[in-house]
Amino acid sequence: AAMREERIKKTKTVCTYCGVGCSFDVWTKDRKILKVEPNAESPANGISTCIKGKFGWDYVNSDERLTKPLIREGDSFKEVEWEEAIAYVAKRFKEIKEEKGADHLGFIASSKATNEESYLMQKLSRQVIGTNNVDNCSRYCQAPATKGLFRTVGYGGDSGSISDIAKAELVITIGSNTAESHPVLASRIKRAHKLFGQKLFVFDLRKHEMAGRADRFYQPESGTDLVWLSAVTKYILDQGWEDQAFLDEWVNQLDEYKESLKGFTMDYAEKMTGIPQQDLKEVAEEIANSGKVAICWAMGVTQHMRGSDTSTAISNLLLVTGNYGKPGVGAYPLRGHNNVQGCSDFGSMPNFFPGYENTTDDEVRERYEQAWGVDLPAEPGMDNHEMIEAVHSGDLSCIYVYGEDTGVVDSNVNYVRDAFEKLDFFVVQDLFLTKTTEYADVVLPAVPSLEKEGTFTNTERRIQRLYKVMDPLPGPKADWEIMTLLAKELGFDWGYSHPSEIMEEAAKLAPLFAGVTYERLEGYKSLQWPVEEDGTDTPLLFLDGFPFEDKKARLYPLEFELEYRTTEKYDLHVNNGRLLEHFHEGNMTYKSEGISRKTPDSFVEISPELAKERGIKEGGEVRLISDAGEAVGTVTVTDRVRGKELYLPLNGRGKSAVNLLTDNRVDKDSNTPAYKEIAVKMEIVKKE
Ligand code: SF4
Repeated sequence: AAMREERIKKTKTVCTYCGVGCSFDVWTKDRKILKVEPNAESPANGISTCIKGKFGWDYVNSDERLTKPLIREGDSFKEVEWEEAIAYVAKRFKEIKEEKGADHLGFIASSKATNEESYLMQKLSRQVIGTNNVDNCSRYCQAPATKGLFRTVGYGGDSGSISDIAKAELVITIGSNTAESHPVLASRIKRAHKLFGQKLFVFDLRKHEMAGRADRFYQPESGTDLVWLSAVTKYILDQGWEDQAFLDEWVNQLDEYKESLKGFTMDYAEKMTGIPQQDLKEVAEEIANSGKVAICWAMGVTQHMRGSDTSTAISNLLLVTGNYGKPGVGAYPLRGHNNVQGCSDFGSMPNFFPGYENTTDDEVRERYEQAWGVDLPAEPGMDNHEMIEAVHSGDLSCIYVYGEDTGVVDSNVNYVRDAFEKLDFFVVQDLFLTKTTEYADVVLPAVPSLEKEGTFTNTERRIQRLYKVMDPLPGPKADWEIMTLLAKELGFDWGYSHPSEIMEEAAKLAPLFAGVTYERLEGYKSLQWPVEEDGTDTPLLFLDGFPFEDKKARLYPLEFELEYRTTEKYDLHVNNGRLLEHFHEGNMTYKSEGISRKTPDSFVEISPELAKERGIKEGGEVRLISDAGEAVGTVTVTDRVRGKELYLPLNGRGKSAVNLLTDNRVDKDSNTPAYKEIAVKMEIVKKE
C-alpha cells in the first residue's frame, strides 16, 4: 500500500487554456490524471475552475502524440533521431541565411508556450539568425488592445487585477462572450452583480449568457463600437461631467482630443450603431455618475479593421471619466490563450525586446548586444501577417513556428496554405500532426505544459510557475530545450539546464521584470509586472502616474470611417467566437473525450427572422460563400442572433472552418486579421 501511495503525487500547475490563469493541483498516478483540485491559495481563481481546466487534459495521453522528429520524404514523413533533425534544421537555416539573408527567415511563437520559451524564440531569431522577423499568435487576437493602451496609458495590460473588476460599481463588457471565453472571471462578475449590486452593461452582436444577465444590453451594428464610445465620451464632456481634477493632474492632449470628437454627435452615433440616442445618453450619465467603472473587452472589439482605434476609444473614455489608478476601475482586455500576455511581454514581437523596449532604441539594443555578444538589427521585422504576404512576394523563404496551427487559425487559410507551399523550408513544432504540419518539411515533437516547467502570465499581468506534473513521454522535448539544441548547433551555446536560468537572464535585461525570480514564484506565489528589483510587484497600475516621462496619459484623437458593410451580393454578416467547452481551434479539447461527447462539432446560428425568410429549419444545412472561400454548416435557429447576423463557433473543422471565409483585411494599426468582418451569401444545401 505504501508503494502505491508513493506513486500518487500532487503537483501545482497553471491552466493551459484561457487567460484567466487558474492554478490548481493535479493529482496523478504515473501518467494517469486522477483529479484536478483547485487550491484556496490560487491567486486568480481560488477554489473555482471551469470544465476545460477540470477535464480538458486527455490530450496529454492521446495516442496521437508525436514522439519522434519527422523529416519530409516526398508526400510523407520519415521518423528520425533528434541529432539528425536538429542538424538538418540548422543546416537549412544557415543555407537560407547565407543565400538570401537573415531576413528571409521568420519565427512565430505560441501563446500556449511559456514566457521562457517566448524569450528564447526572440533570442534565436535576433541573436542566432540576426533578424527581427519574430512574432507570436497574439497578432491574431489581442495586439490591437495592446496598441490602444500603449498609445494612451503606456502599458499594454489589464489596469488592475481580476479582483478589481469585482470591486467596480459598473462593469461594461464589449465584444466579449465572457461566460464562455473566460468562465471563472465571468463568475466573479456574476457574483458581484447578484450579491453586491454591481451594474453590468453588455455591448455585443450576440445575445449570450452575460447579455441575458445585464442591466443594459445593446447590439450595435458590427464594427461601430468606436462610434458609440466616442459619442458617449463627447456627451460627457459636453455636459461637463468629466473628471476635471483627474484630467488636470494626469492627462495630456485634451484640446486636440476634444477637437477630434466634433463629428461624434449622438445623431451620428444613432445612425451608425443603431442604438437609440436616448439610450446612449443614459449610458453616458450612468458612467459619469458611477464612481468606479471597469471596461472589459475581447475579440469582438479587436478583430476588426478598427480594432486598435476602438481599444483606444475605450481608454479615452476611461481617462475622461478618471477611471484609472484606483481600485475597482480601468481597462481590462481579456486575453484569450493562457499566455497571450506573457508571449508578447517576453519579446516575441517584431518591434520589441522583452518588456516592450523598442528595437530601434540604441541604449536598449546595446544592452542586449553586450549580453549576447553580437550586433543586433534595429529596424522592426515582419509580423505574422507581413510574413505570409512576404512569402507570396518572394521576400521570405523560411518559417519556424511552434505551438500554433497557423494553417487553421490565421484568416483566409487558403491564402495562408498557398504561402506554406511556396516556402523553401518550413519547420513546425507541436504535440500532434495538424493541418499546418501537412505543409512542413520538418516536424519537431514538443511536450505539453504538464510535462515541463516554466511560467505563464495571465490576463492580469500575473506571472505564475508551473511544475512538471509528469515526466515527458520518451521522445518529445520542451520547446525551450529544442531551441537550446538548435542554437547550439548554430554556434551559440546558451547552456541552459532549467527554465529558471532563462528567467534570470530575462529579468537582468528587461527592467519590467527586474525582480522576477523563481524563488519569489515558489508554489502558489505570483508576481504582477512591473516587478522592481526588490520584488515589489504591481497588482494595480498607474497609482502614481503613467509610464511616460511627464507621468501623464495621452488622450488620443480618432476618426471613423465605415470600411465594412454587407453588399447586395454578400448580404449577411458572419460573426464568430468561442464555445465554453472547446478551446480555440480545438486541437486540444477535441482530444478530451468528456468534452467532445458533450458538444457538437460546429453549427451556424441563424435568426428566426432569417430562417423564416429563407424557408430553412433547425438541422438544415447551408453553404456560406464569401469573397475568399466557402464553408458549410448545420443550422441552429436561435434568437441569440438577430436579423442578418450569422454566428459560427471558432472550433469548426474541415469544411465548416470559419477561416475558409475570412479574407486578408486587417486592423490598420496592428495587422490583426479582421476576423469579425465577413460578408457572405448563403445557399441552402438542405432545408431541414
Ligand atoms: Fe480557468 Fe480559463 Fe482554465 Fe477555465 S479555461 S480553468 S477559466 S484558466
